[in-house]
Amino acid sequence: MSMRILVVDDFDTMIRIIKNVLSELGYDNIITARNGEQAFQILSKEKIDFIISDWNMPVMTGIELLKKVKGTPGMDHIPFLMVTAEAEKEHIVEAIQAKVDQYIIKPFTAATLGEKIKFALHKKC
Ligand SMILES: [Mg+2]
Repeated sequence: MSMRILVVDDFDTMIRIIKNVLSELGYDNIITARNGEQAFQILSKEKIDFIISDWNMPVMTGIELLKKVKGTPGMDHIPFLMVTAEAEKEHIVEAIQAKVDQYIIKPFTAATLGEKIKFALHKKC
């Protein structure tokens, strides 16, 4: 069975873009959520191998989700790729301190997203 990827974004178009890139890369076992809270509910019930999450979302943001995931035994090992428009250094530092595995700044190309996924997976091997 292929790697199950959770894609979290409040913007449908971005979910579609990421899903398209993932399918080009051969990943088609994808589940989506609209915010951090929804994502965390899914993570509590299902086996997820990789998380790709937006930063800015209503209800629960990506950084809040990241902190919850990395602070929850049984979830803390799941590679987490943060997708964001926030290129400011303090944002990146906050994400790194919260143990983000990879960070990608919008807009990005399919090739860059593919690289980031590969790096995040290798880091965990
Ligand atoms: Mg957003």
